[in-house]
Amino acid sequence: MEFGELIWKGRAWPAAEIVGRTGETFAFRTSGKGRPLELVGPAAWWRNFSELNFDNSDAIVDFLRRRGDPFGQLSPTTQGDTGGWKYLSGLLKLAASCWTTIIPPTSLCTEFDNGYVIEALLASPMFDVTFVPHVAEIRIGASVRRGLNMHIIPKDLGAYMVASAALHLENHVDMAVCEQCGDWFVLQRRGTQFCSPSCRAAHSTSKKERR
Ligand SMILES: [Zn+2]
Repeated sequence: MEFGELIWKGRAWPAAEIVGRTGETFAFRTSGKGRPLELVGPAAWWRNFSELNFDNSDAIVDFLRRRGDPFGQLSPTTQGDTGGWKYLSGLLKLAASCWTTIIPPTSLCTEFDNGYVIEALLASPMFDVTFVPHVAEIRIGASVRRGLNMHIIPKDLGAYMVASAALHLENHVDMAVCEQCGDWFVLQRRGTQFCSPSCRAAHSTSKKERR
């Protein structure tokens, strides 16, 4: 079933850095305007967040620089912290438990009736999305008509990851880890090793350089 198009417009923070630690919580700040991101459709790297080591400040900074701040606190004038990150990661761990990890490289969504996990995601306050109706082209076989469609707009990056997980659970997609960048991605075809054409190109370049 199609529910609509998940769309995330946010900012990654390439200049993010850790400024301190209180107990298990890291505080971070940034400078600059950040890098605008626009993502259409769910992304499988919610599983990378579910596997983040929260004692590793480098892993936290890497996530902020590449993806942004899950709770949208961070700006050049406002610091953020990892206070809610573990809770979000735990929720995504629950979703990830529906996929196999024992037999790499392919991770299969083997849990046929995973509705109880989707229910847990939807019940979480982290799942905060707005449905925006609009008229779009709808394909039915060979014909195209204009009709009602939905955009699913998450409140923050955390909500985007939870919504991505819910859609992946519903569609029982197969996943794999990119051999170049280490990101989880949806396997469209068995045997694919890279998340994107650019990772495939980077991998073959680095192989040549090593020779
Ligand atoms: Zn990659």
